[in-house]
Amino acid sequence: MSKEPARLSWVYLVIGVALTAAGLAASDATIRDGVYVVAALQVIPTLLIARRLRNVSWRPIILFSAVGVLYVGEQVISGNNPTYESPLAVIFVLLAVTSLVGGLVALVRSSLPGPTRSIWGDALIVALGAWIISWATLVQSINQATDNRSVGVVLYGLYQPTSSVVLFLTVVLLLNRHQRPPAIWMVATALAFNMSGDMTYAMIDAHHLGPGADRFALPMYVMAYFVASAAFLHPSIHELGRPQPSPKPDSIGRLLVTTTSLLLPVVVLAATSPNDPTDRIVRFASALVLSAVVTLRVVTAVRSNSKAQAELLHGAQTDPLTGLPNRVVMLQKINELLRTSWDSDKHPTLFFVDLDRFKNINDSLGHAAGDEVLVTVARRLVNAVPADAVVARLSGDEYVVLDAHAKSQGAAMASAERLLAVFREPLALSQGDVFVTASVGVAAINPTASTTAEDLVRHADTAMYRAKDAGRNCLAVYDESMHERVAHRLAVETALYRALDRRELRLFHQPILDLQSGDVVGFEALMRWQQADGTIVSPAEFIPIAEDTGTIVPIGSWALLDALTQLRRWIDEGVCSPSATMSVNVSPRQLSDTNFPAIVSEALTRSGVSPQLLWLEITESIMISEPELALATLRRLRSLGVRVALDDFGTGYSSLSLLQKFPLQRIKIDRAFVHGVADNPNDRSLVRTIIAMGRSLGLDMVAEGVESVHQLQVLSDLGCTKAQGFLISHPVPADAMRSTVAALERLGQFPGLRVNTNAPVN
Ligand code: C2E
Ligand code: MG
Ligand code: MG
Repeated sequence: MSKEPARLSWVYLVIGVALTAAGLAASDATIRDGVYVVAALQVIPTLLIARRLRNVSWRPIILFSAVGVLYVGEQVISGNNPTYESPLAVIFVLLAVTSLVGGLVALVRSSLPGPTRSIWGDALIVALGAWIISWATLVQSINQATDNRSVGVVLYGLYQPTSSVVLFLTVVLLLNRHQRPPAIWMVATALAFNMSGDMTYAMIDAHHLGPGADRFALPMYVMAYFVASAAFLHPSIHELGRPQPSPKPDSIGRLLVTTTSLLLPVVVLAATSPNDPTDRIVRFASALVLSAVVTLRVVTAVRSNSKAQAELLHGAQTDPLTGLPNRVVMLQKINELLRTSWDSDKHPTLFFVDLDRFKNINDSLGHAAGDEVLVTVARRLVNAVPADAVVARLSGDEYVVLDAHAKSQGAAMASAERLLAVFREPLALSQGDVFVTASVGVAAINPTASTTAEDLVRHADTAMYRAKDAGRNCLAVYDESMHERVAHRLAVETALYRALDRRELRLFHQPILDLQSGDVVGFEALMRWQQADGTIVSPAEFIPIAEDTGTIVPIGSWALLDALTQLRRWIDEGVCSPSATMSVNVSPRQLSDTNFPAIVSEALTRSGVSPQLLWLEITESIMISEPELALATLRRLRSLGVRVALDDFGTGYSSLSLLQKFPLQRIKIDRAFVHGVADNPNDRSLVRTIIAMGRSLGLDMVAEGVESVHQLQVLSDLGCTKAQGFLISHPVPADAMRSTVAALERLGQFPGLRVNTNAPVN
């Protein structure tokens, strides 16, 4: 906001004060009238300037200009006589005050709070109240004093009610906002001056004040016009129409104005008595209309209140996205069911439905598509179950169905199948069709067992996880043993958190042999966990859990440093050659940690091992789920000089394309194919293809899980140059490595193994 434009507004205020003072000082009525006309008409050019400077819209400009013109018109018509003597002059003032209301509404419309209907209801109450007062005190006074019951007087009686609406709107305008910029105060001040002028005139007309008092009334209008002009020229005039961020509800001020307009007429009616039958009828009818309007207003207020309450309740019980009942309602329904007893021919059942890989949809198609999926699935589930079943959305992609009336266990299973079948048809999204599957957990509700609603939902949830483990897109039924499995997993999870601190983790190492030289050229570090009670947990069991819970990050960092420190020691102690390498397994969670390259670099520095001696073994999952991230991390690792091996090669889906896309230097042929390479022609041809492909890409190749000489021979014939496996050595503790390597080197090459260095590429 620049200072210059605001200054113009202050100039108007100063002129206004000066002219008002001049008006008050002038003893000649003509001068006062002249000042008044100037003040009223300056509004037109001023508003046009405001239009240019402040871009005020046309409607308030036209209406406020009309106010000035109409009042001047009234002044010209009535001259020095009271306004009510000329019906035309009265019509002019009525039009003027209506324009004022219209202009005010046009100006503040979009900032008015909430349902504007209630505001108009209140405005009507204020107007009616003012009318009653005006009739009893003003119109009756004029009638009595002048014995003049003309149309003009009655019409003139309407003037105060209309201008009370202005007062009311001013109050709403002021009270319903959190911030009140200068322009709003100026508008309110202008209206206050205007009202004071009106009141003075009303008192004069009702003969409560002498005619001389009008020398004070006119200057008040002068002030009103100039302050209003200043408001329009003020930069903050825009604030008036700006919608309020959180409009205040029915404010206390509004209530005060409304109740006052109810009480005052009652007091006035009680304090004055009717002059004649017409007066009595008008008072009676007016009071009747006022009470009708008040009743109506109260009824609508009560109604909108209870509607708001119902909406609130609905919101608290409904999932806003799908419109389904939420968790709270589902638990309530199950609890209701548990409280009732049911016949033995009923098998109430709970189904837990969870979408498979829903995250992929959100990640690849966006959240809008994800929402569409959730809504469509909700609709389909509702259609797939009996009308009296309850379908709820618990959160994310989890739905729960309660069928309280299943006839038998078989019927419940049929329902579960129907829920799965819901996903056979593709979902038609705005971006095209997608296939989504789900895993369904089924839990029977047993009337005798002392289970809570939460327990039952957890049972169904456990069964659902079972279905996920079984390969997804299927169903599983809850039984007690599942609970034990879950409890066991929980115990492992908890123990794993402390395993590192308690030094329960250690690394075993498996040598990797070069088939041509017969030398041990490297080692793979494999984690072992010996719990406090002596039980040894296999990495196949605890690594996935560590991965799920995130503990793999600290554990993996520890393994990296420990393995490299071990290699340094072996090299230094002459256990292995200085060029022997260390392979460390890295899980997807570690790889997606942006800090990972820094962790690797630090481990290399701390152990004093050169980067080319480290192989990181990764699996393809992260390259598929988060290809960009994987590529970025692998590039950073490459720039450190570290090499990367693709572990368990051949078991995934898209290994081939990955080899071209990602900076990999080694593939490890999975145990599953090595196992069959000697006897199974399919496995053999697959391994042949893998080797040929790896060679053509210049990759290093290691066969894992070699258990027989035969396998080793075939692998060697096919051109594989390195191997590890139980045949060569089991993974052994670090202190057993010296003897293991010595034994292997004594052996030289495996007896009878002919190493084929010229294996065909195809
Ligand atoms: P992997 O990286 O594919 O490791 C090879 C697994 O095959 C090891 O199982 C090893 O003991 C086993 N193995 C080696 N030679 C033979 C053989 O001739 N026959 C058979 N049947 N198996 C053989 P292990 O030690 O139980 O490890 C299982 C998996 O756990 C590893 O598979 C790896 O994915 C993961 N893992 C182990 N240690 C770590 C670690 O420190 N960090 C991470 N992230 N994962 C690890
Ligand atoms: Mg490995
Ligand atoms: Mg492997």
